Amino acid sequence: MSENLNKNKFMLAALEQAKKAIIQDEVPVGAVLVKNGEIISGDFNRNLSLKDPTAHAEILVMREASQILGSHRLDDCDIYVTLEPCAMCAAAISLAKVRRIYYAASDAKFGVIENGQMERSSSCYHRPEIYSGFCADESAKLLKDFFKEKRRSI
Ligand SMILES: [Zn+2]
Repeated sequence: MSENLNKNKFMLAALEQAKKAIIQDEVPVGAVLVKNGEIISGDFNRNLSLKDPTAHAEILVMREASQILGSHRLDDCDIYVTLEPCAMCAAAISLAKVRRIYYAASDAKFGVIENGQMERSSSCYHRPEIYSGFCADESAKLLKDFFKEKRRSI
C-alpha cells in the first residue's frame, strides 16, 4: 500500500472515532496514534463523560499509547487527529516527542498550528513534522453538523 493511502487510512480511522463521539454527545474530534504502520490507540473527545477538561482525543490516545508502549516518550509515533490541535494538546504532543502530526480540519478559534502559536511557543523544544488537510472536508462537516444540531436543541 502506498504511503499516501496509508495516511488516508489512518485519518479515516480517526474520523471513525470522531463519529463515535457524536453518539455520546461529545464534540466529534477523533484521534489515533500510529507506530510502525500500526494503530496503537484510538479515542475521541471525552470531556463530558470523564468530567475532565483535559480529555481531548489527542491526550487520551497519547496516555493510552504510553501505557501500552511502556514509555512517556512517543518517539517514532505519529498522531492523526481530525481537528487542528489546541494549545494544550500541541504542548503535550511536543513533550511526548511525537514524530509527526497529521490533522484534518483547521480550527480558527483554538488551533495553534496555522496561526503560528505553536511555532512561537518557547516550551516547544521538540517540533513534530506537521501535515494537514487529509479528509478535512469530512471532518469539518461532522463538527458543523454537530454544533448546528446543538443550537437547534437549545
Ligand atoms: Zn486539544
